[in-house]
Amino acid sequence: MAKPLRVMKFGGTSMGDAECIARSAKIVVEGARDASVVVVVSAMSGVTNRLIASAARAQAGESEAGPELMAALRQQHETALETLIGKNGQRWQVQEQIEAILTEARRLYDGTALLRELSPRTLDSISSLGERLSAPVFSATLAAMGVRSECVEATRLIVTDSYHGGAEPLADLTRENSEKCLRPMLQDGVVPVVTGFIGSSQSGELTTLGRGGSDYSATILGAALAADEVIIWTDVNGVLTADPRQVKDARTIPEISYREAAELAFFGAKVLHPKTLNAVVAAKIPVWIRNSFSPEHPGTKITPQGRSNGGGVKALTAIADVSLISVGGPGIVGVPDVVGRTFSTTAEVRANVLLISQSSSQNDICFAVATPDAERTVTALRKEFAKDLANQKVEHITLDHEIAIVAVVGENMRGTRGMAGRTFSALGREDVNIIAIAQGSSECNISFVVEGKDMKAALEATHREFGLGATAAK
Ligand code: ASP
Ligand code: MG
Repeated sequence: MAKPLRVMKFGGTSMGDAECIARSAKIVVEGARDASVVVVVSAMSGVTNRLIASAARAQAGESEAGPELMAALRQQHETALETLIGKNGQRWQVQEQIEAILTEARRLYDGTALLRELSPRTLDSISSLGERLSAPVFSATLAAMGVRSECVEATRLIVTDSYHGGAEPLADLTRENSEKCLRPMLQDGVVPVVTGFIGSSQSGELTTLGRGGSDYSATILGAALAADEVIIWTDVNGVLTADPRQVKDARTIPEISYREAAELAFFGAKVLHPKTLNAVVAAKIPVWIRNSFSPEHPGTKITPQGRSNGGGVKALTAIADVSLISVGGPGIVGVPDVVGRTFSTTAEVRANVLLISQSSSQNDICFAVATPDAERTVTALRKEFAKDLANQKVEHITLDHEIAIVAVVGENMRGTRGMAGRTFSALGREDVNIIAIAQGSSECNISFVVEGKDMKAALEATHREFGLGATAAK
């Protein structure tokens, strides 16, 4: 019988330093005993943030920003390499690879500092460097542990559209490339180590899938190769009923549905990139979330249907870093197609709209976006409605940064009466003021906007109300 095929993705913290990489590599070595394995890696933890911060400095004309970071990254990766594989032959080879990438990096930073210009395309090339540096180190580590391995840059595999900073994969071309490049390696017993986060447009330019996109890389490749499972190795024991930093008795959920996981990811549960599951829905491939720091913990299995925990609510999630934008007020009455134009504008600037609420007058809409998208969205909206509002003295488009969204999620909330009532009574008891409410017609989630300072209290109150600390283990 053919061995099962597993795609294993290791995130930034699982790649934190030599010790973390060794722990992660050991998981692959063990996994490769009875399965074919494709590895997808993130950059070492924090590297992508640093690359982007230095790019901003270079853009401001600081010519030292790039070289300074390159020196630090050389040191960081070589130290890891030295600890992981000692002085054997492969080390020089990997060092050469690292040098070549750093030389390329240097050119990107020099060009940015010289022109004081940073296009989305250049930023993609810069932010991809972390994965391009970490993958060879991981692959060499596997080799040093006795597993044949080859490092593969995902630009050879994942074909995307050309939207830099958040590209979408093209499945058919990606499948062709993956079959051609990875299948022969797998048949030969080699473990490919692929750079996460990165793809290439049809014209051959490097693209990225958006921040945190390595999860998505893993499911894209899982689907392309019709894998049996995708395992996302992270630093928590799976998907929890709530963020344990906010709610003390949060617990791991053993099994949830694609839909529930997507709702949670969309609303800020940091454990999964929101697009991750899109790639596996059609093929129904199960996705595991497991902890590379405690591999003995079974983690959470995400399946097409999930499994009921008896109650209606599975989990809570919250995002703090959101802004509420309102388009409305009496002056906007009579402006044609406010709703349509508002959301074509958000689509144009690719702002991720997290929640929408509209009053019955249809001329008062408020919606929430991630704070980094907020200013850009408001500027675009003011431009869109400039003519209509030219004669108005009142501000019709307003922005509030100090808010949070809390979402109550569960597939079985559908058909269970009283969920909304219980949620809002619990909040009322804790004196939490609700600013806006939305419930999708799927009834898979009730979300509400509260002031940022009330987020923790809102989470604790609903977690208690639905007995999540006690029932989740069922
Ligand atoms: N390194 C990228 C980021 O930090 C992608 C990832 O880690 O998934 O956004
Ligand atoms: Mg991540």
